[in-house]
Amino acid sequence: MIHTIIEPFRIKTVEPIRMTTRDERRRWLDDAKLNVFKLAAEHVLLDFLTDSGTGAMSGKQWGAIMEGDESYAGSKSFFRLESVLKDLTGYRHIIPTHQGRAAERILFSVTTKKGDLIPNNTHFDTTRANIEYQGAEAVDLVIPEGRQPRAQHPFKGNIDLERVEDLLRREGHRIPFGMMTLTNNSGGGQPVSLANLRAYRELLMRYGKPLILDVCRYAENSMFVKLREPGMQNRTVKSIAQEMFSLADGCLMSAKKDGMVNIGGFLALNDSEWVEAAKTLLILTEGFPTYGGLAGRDLEALAVGMEEGLNEDYLRYRLRTVEYMGEKMKAAGVAIVEPTGGHAVYLDARDFLPQIPQEQYPAWSLCNALYLEAGIRGVEIGSVMFGKRNDDGTESYHAMELVRLAFPRRMYTQSHFDYAAEAICELKARAHDVRGVKMVKQARYLRHFTAEFAYA
Ligand SMILES: *Cc1c(COP(=O)(O)O)cnc(C)c1O
Repeated sequence: MIHTIIEPFRIKTVEPIRMTTRDERRRWLDDAKLNVFKLAAEHVLLDFLTDSGTGAMSGKQWGAIMEGDESYAGSKSFFRLESVLKDLTGYRHIIPTHQGRAAERILFSVTTKKGDLIPNNTHFDTTRANIEYQGAEAVDLVIPEGRQPRAQHPFKGNIDLERVEDLLRREGHRIPFGMMTLTNNSGGGQPVSLANLRAYRELLMRYGKPLILDVCRYAENSMFVKLREPGMQNRTVKSIAQEMFSLADGCLMSAKKDGMVNIGGFLALNDSEWVEAAKTLLILTEGFPTYGGLAGRDLEALAVGMEEGLNEDYLRYRLRTVEYMGEKMKAAGVAIVEPTGGHAVYLDARDFLPQIPQEQYPAWSLCNALYLEAGIRGVEIGSVMFGKRNDDGTESYHAMELVRLAFPRRMYTQSHFDYAAEAICELKARAHDVRGVKMVKQARYLRHFTAEFAYA
């Protein structure tokens, strides 16, 4: 029996990446105002900024792209995608959008009003921003283990049912529907169990509230269910996914994740009234309902990608890659969110950089140091992304200071990961030299994308 899990693909097209010097990187980082979002991608060696839209497409997807029907209305590429998504999700209406946040904006615009509350395990940053933009409140109710980086639990993305019930009892009139994010991206890529989703569903139903899923990483979540939830081992990942969809009234998806494409998203719903309002808004801002801001070829690539994303050899290799990186970190004494999630390793920056107080954004500082020392780009999931400057000038901080290293799908190989692991361990040995930062410029929404910094 051979235990090594290999990349279940071989390489057909290559894209060179370039080594850079520390001096070059220091200059580029300074020019970027100490914000890695502002770096030119060609100045990055290993780009773990996000797994969103960054993966490699298959030969089959590139082939399907040539089949794209670019008709403005009634494109056959739409019907092909629609049939794949209806088979998978069981929802009656499929509304393509250019990416996840467009689906979010449309959903919240037609369902949510000022003063509303929307519970979720943890809202992703664009989800939260789109809810707040409507004047509503995004409430995170993940289980307590999900907030503790080293608490062991197989499903740290689960929602805290007691707190949900309490919220429904006290504030039910303000809640248009409940949400659940699979996997819980902002909480460490942690999965949700089928049992928790079912119980949440039943709870919401008792209060007459629909459930909408954020299914960006539903395939990874379903694989975790297969591997970790009792009684699931002999089921296919697809049937687990189908059961999860069946427990909700609709979903939104950034197909740039488990859809295995570089651009795309969709909203899938059962409720005809919501669908009508959503399509009206879609036409106003995204495009006609059979393309929703995408080209016909994008719809084709997505139809193929949705099926490839459920391939179990691929999912096993994908989750194992993340776990492998996690094992290397732990062996070197680098604190991470445990157990590892589906798409990323999250470094605990407060543990890595104990000398940097939260006011100096330890996770942001670690991100910059990783780029400076090794050309690796990660992303801060901490107080720059989730904290905020209050109207009275005080600052609110996030519970965790994490650096997320998100892994693009089917793109990097084992030696890339080994290089990254070695670089992080090296940096750990010199962590006391890393400096904190102060924020010198920020925007009101999603400030991490554009904020500017100086060394503290
Ligand atoms: C990426 C993501 C989104 C937003 O999707 P975009 O395609 O980036 O607009 C929403 N929710 C979750 C959980 C995500 O990971």
